[in-house]
Amino acid sequence: MAGSSAQIAGVTVSLDHWIDGKRVASADRFATLSPIDGAHLGDVAAGGQAEVDQAVDAASRAFPAWAALGAEGRQPILHRFAKELLARADDLAVVETADNGSLLMGNQHRVVPRSAQNISFFADWALTLLDHKIEHEEVTNNVRYDPAGVAALITPWNAPLMLTTWKVGPALAAGNTLVVKPPEWAPLTCSLLADIADKAGLPPGVLNVVQGIGEEAGNALVNHPGLARISFTGSVPTARIIGQAAARSITPMSAELGGKSPFIVCADADLDAAAQTVAGQYINAGQVCLAGTRILVEQRIEQEFLAKVRAAVTHMTVGDPRASATRVGPLIHPEHYARVTGFVERAKAAGAEVLWGGEQADAGALYFQPTMFAGAAPDAEISQQEVFGPVLTWQTFETDEEVIAIANSTEYGLAGTLFCGNESRAMRIASQVVAGTLWVNCFFVRDLAAPFGGSRVSGIGREGGTYSFDFYCDIKNIAVRKGSFGAAGG
Ligand code: ADP
Repeated sequence: MAGSSAQIAGVTVSLDHWIDGKRVASADRFATLSPIDGAHLGDVAAGGQAEVDQAVDAASRAFPAWAALGAEGRQPILHRFAKELLARADDLAVVETADNGSLLMGNQHRVVPRSAQNISFFADWALTLLDHKIEHEEVTNNVRYDPAGVAALITPWNAPLMLTTWKVGPALAAGNTLVVKPPEWAPLTCSLLADIADKAGLPPGVLNVVQGIGEEAGNALVNHPGLARISFTGSVPTARIIGQAAARSITPMSAELGGKSPFIVCADADLDAAAQTVAGQYINAGQVCLAGTRILVEQRIEQEFLAKVRAAVTHMTVGDPRASATRVGPLIHPEHYARVTGFVERAKAAGAEVLWGGEQADAGALYFQPTMFAGAAPDAEISQQEVFGPVLTWQTFETDEEVIAIANSTEYGLAGTLFCGNESRAMRIASQVVAGTLWVNCFFVRDLAAPFGGSRVSGIGREGGTYSFDFYCDIKNIAVRKGSFGAAGG
């Protein structure tokens, strides 16, 4: 079928699905707009039950051969995938920026290289899973990481390329075949990813992309009986809906959800580094699930530290994410902008003090100033709920017990950041904060081998290194009685 495509900053992007190694159109389409200036980027195919059925069928047919290749057989193909991804680095970066408004420099220097690494790292790591034996006096337990089947991968708009590859890498390396449902507010880099996979020689049906609206394509996908895994990154309400589908079919589900992470600054910390890192929480206009959005400062350095953070934030340019000087770009969509400003207006009405920001920025319709609230009640909405915009809160503490209690006072548990000059104090606080990841005197350092995920409503499960394979594989134990094959092995 003749395809529909768009030209985005000189890059041709297919607006159709990618199923069984072919572009597939749909009669229904939805518009994707650029948050930079509202430009209409294209009308993307809106899939439903029929396209999901085709994609899951294709993935099911492709599964036996892909699984049979083994980790060694898949590794060179996945390395080619990573290499081809890097060859399209500039295209991926400009399309991601146009589609979701994230900073072009960040996409070029950080997101695209990391996305390639997501593929190659897990292709290599899969080899380390082989020949895992646990000896028992009667038997040898031969633990195998077998491919599970068809995995559904559902991704959000704030970091589509990064988060799609973070799932695609281990899921493919594990020997699964995939149906990816990209986010409807930023669907385009995933379409490029399909072209790249094809160029790299992934067999047809191994990676399928069904574009569409969450409640339609996404809903049809998670309710499909042919799935072996569902991996989801997105919001808590959507996770609850998907979780019900997963529960009906007893399909293992991993979920990485929102956060309201604490950012703790002790009096003896390197305050300059801490202040720069607080300013860094406004990255991607605060549309980052891991952001430390509750700044908790030890009382006796409050004024000194506030001055440092204020100075760091004052120098941040809000504007076009394609400009190298820009530090804060636009919010993704008018609906999301209204959600963020709703939080801000309600916080003001409830009496929170605006330390800076709090208003629309001059750069355009979807741009909002980096904002800091102080004096909000601990149980106020702005202290408890994820805003997913450039909006932080400021609180002080006097004792470690107090800051641990404040840190743990929301329903979330995704991450936390701690700046502290004393190792034993840092480890004591860090070990008591409920979070999947605690960064001490650093931020956003994510080793692909390390576990990553959320506690409480921030998620289900851990991924990274072997943890990813614990989810994406069917782990089997072949327990063989010792000596039962005789000396010659039977
Ligand atoms: P956000 O608030 O970040 O947009 P969502 O949880 O709404 O988060 O969306 C994340 C992803 O989940 C998107 O790809 C979206 O299309 C998809 N999605 C939304 N609703 C559903 C649903 N009912 N079933 C499956 N996927 C869905």
